[in-house]
Amino acid sequence: MAEIWKGQPVADKLNEKMKEDIAALAAKGVAPTLAIVRVGEKASDISYEKGAIKRSETVGVAIKHVLLPADITQDAFIAEIKALNADKSVHGILVFRPLPEQLDDTALRETLLPEKDVDGITPGSLGTAMAGGVGPGFSPCTAQAVMEILDFYEVDVKGKDVTVIGNSLVVGLPLTNLLSARFATVTNCHIFTKDVPAKAKSAEILISAAGKAGLVSAKHMSEGQIIIDVGINFTPEGKMCGDVTFEDAEAIAKAATPVPGGVGSVTTGVLVSHVVEAAKRSVR
Ligand code: NAD
Repeated sequence: MAEIWKGQPVADKLNEKMKEDIAALAAKGVAPTLAIVRVGEKASDISYEKGAIKRSETVGVAIKHVLLPADITQDAFIAEIKALNADKSVHGILVFRPLPEQLDDTALRETLLPEKDVDGITPGSLGTAMAGGVGPGFSPCTAQAVMEILDFYEVDVKGKDVTVIGNSLVVGLPLTNLLSARFATVTNCHIFTKDVPAKAKSAEILISAAGKAGLVSAKHMSEGQIIIDVGINFTPEGKMCGDVTFEDAEAIAKAATPVPGGVGSVTTGVLVSHVVEAAKRSVR
């Protein structure tokens, strides 16, 4: 029977560390602050926003709300981002995406300062992930959340064969880079990859970030494997599930993360920890 690796203890450990850092910053008169930029009233944005606010308040990170009308023009939107870049009281900026059609996502990514890009969307942040987390920006939160889970459960990835399913800029590719920078040997799979089950089965660590319920089942797994499920999907009955058939993982793997309660519980913790880190860098 596999060990179930939950995300909550990982998030709790991140919180403890943040509280120490926030106390040290307070002594220097700095209050780490996250600007949340929401364009319009999309339900999924509001729901994620609530989670981010709750997590920020738990550790003592302040929130600056920037609520913009759904029909804001490109110029006005970019002016708002530039104002936040220049605002010394703001350490991190989270912009909900996808943006409405009239707004240019590339322009946003090129305008936002990597130093404040706590969500890891700018070219500077992607370069940072490529260098294993070293650079002006911040690795995308979900990719880093997977690394935090592996660290917490004391998995040394050096020399391990790792298969990552998914090659998006949000999760799969930055995660592949972060693992590679730690000397894992990574096979990255995507929609055009031949024989994904064989590539998954041969891995010592299997990570699925495809967003396809039931994609990973017994034929992808091998005894002793560590399986990390990043996927967030919903069954026709509306129940949240990952990419991995959890009963198969329980029966075959050494350890597996659940959905819900796995990677997702760590992601917002990483976001908030990036705000604290940005505040620390600002006083260095
Ligand atoms: P995406 O749609 O941008 O990318 C999906 C990737 O999976 C692509 O590279 C695609 O080629 C690959 N893929 C899809 N079907 C495949 C198949 N049958 N075989 C092999 N590869 C396949 O999605 P994303 O933004 O990278 O997110 C991936 C998943 O992670 C989604 O379920 C998303 O909801 C979830 N997610 C979770 C968190 C979290 O905090 N847990 C955060 C962000 C995203």
